[in-house]
Amino acid sequence: MSTAPAGSLVIEGAAVATVDADGTEYAAGHVVAVDGRITAVGPGDAPARVEGARVVDGRGCLLTPGFVNTHHHLYQWATRGYAVDSTLFEWLTALYPVWARITPDVVGAAATAGLAWLARSGCTTTTDHHYVFPRGGGDLLGSTVEAAARVGLRFHPTRGSMDLGRSLGGLPPDAVVESLDEILAASADAVSRFHDPAPGSMVRVALAPCSPFSVTAELLTESAKLARELGVRLHTHLAETLDEEAFCRDRYGCAPVAYLDRLGWLGEDVWLAHGVHLDAGAIARLAATGTGVAHCPSSNARLGAGTAPVRALLDAGVSVGLGVDGAASQEASRLVEELRQATYAARGTGGPRALAVREALALATIGGARCLGRADELGSLEVGKLADLALWRLDGLGHAGIADPVAALVLGAAPPLELLAVGGRVVVSRDELSTVDEAEVTADLRRACEEIRQMTPTHPAKARP
Ligand SMILES: [Zn+2]
Repeated sequence: MSTAPAGSLVIEGAAVATVDADGTEYAAGHVVAVDGRITAVGPGDAPARVEGARVVDGRGCLLTPGFVNTHHHLYQWATRGYAVDSTLFEWLTALYPVWARITPDVVGAAATAGLAWLARSGCTTTTDHHYVFPRGGGDLLGSTVEAAARVGLRFHPTRGSMDLGRSLGGLPPDAVVESLDEILAASADAVSRFHDPAPGSMVRVALAPCSPFSVTAELLTESAKLARELGVRLHTHLAETLDEEAFCRDRYGCAPVAYLDRLGWLGEDVWLAHGVHLDAGAIARLAATGTGVAHCPSSNARLGAGTAPVRALLDAGVSVGLGVDGAASQEASRLVEELRQATYAARGTGGPRALAVREALALATIGGARCLGRADELGSLEVGKLADLALWRLDGLGHAGIADPVAALVLGAAPPLELLAVGGRVVVSRDELSTVDEAEVTADLRRACEEIRQMTPTHPAKARP
């Protein structure tokens, strides 16, 4: 189920930003992909024709690696636009009762729409952090895996979890948390059903207890043990807001990174969402342990959480990727726009040299691949890597004549997407999805949003005048 049909592709005449270790770029170059992998990259025309390959004229375009989205909650695509002026804790408290009503149908429709939207913003690989599993709620994770196969994106779903309900001092209502045993059994089941460790894999599963204020220390410890037994990665939210830090200091007697450190939760197999509130000691520990960070600048701004210290993280050698985060806290959810948001957020707090344009491109590509443990296969245009790529059209009104094509992509308006390929297979062509019918996906989404609204007596939308 995790193998997509591999494609062959020749792209010529495009500006090429390879994002390799030397930052190699060509003003006019080519990329050739055979059976889903890159076989040639260089200046000028492609060296040879490839039997049966799709040939794309890249003139007027910039070719980049496909973007890697390192943090998302796809089900939230069905609950956008609520608690729009709230803090994280207020927003979560408003939304937990809504999320308690999700079904496999709602999640399937939301995930398909969210993935389709991500594809249209240059994303070829995405993770998903699904942590709401209402009792008897059906196969929610399976719905997301099916949606990714339909849309054609490489997918790293996580089996998320919450076990610290309100009655035990946590933030979520008891109705949306599970028991430790249920979570561990479901986590092992998710790995055995969906995880594919093979090269070129289209689906890899990670385990992802939700956050320090919604899970117990025991769940974190046991999840890490299980993930390491099964050879899968670990993910969680961390150091997102000052409220979270106050919660950790009050309940655990230390800041969030020290808390995870104590539980054996830092390491090369871990990437953390947000990392906004980190002191120098915490950054050094993330660097020393090889722990990655999913930087979500628009979500952090939407919730007023703060700005992650990306410059300090990069200088310390931490792997940093970009994430759109769930659409309930980041309604735009366009990965290409996170490059500019990351640049502006870093410079707005750290000055003009806090993040270079090409560093922003690296965050979205190779940085994300590192966070997901796939830098050997993804994140740059190099011979032998998977043919996951995005071709951006820069010869229209918004970008024509610009001196620097990478600046056009990062600082300019989001350009039209001429082509998006995953393993050489075309997913988007001229801003249109090739794998699913966008009108149908949109109609299903509208129905899912309406369904969840009808099912929720205390839906925030119903309280609005
Ligand atoms: Zn999140």
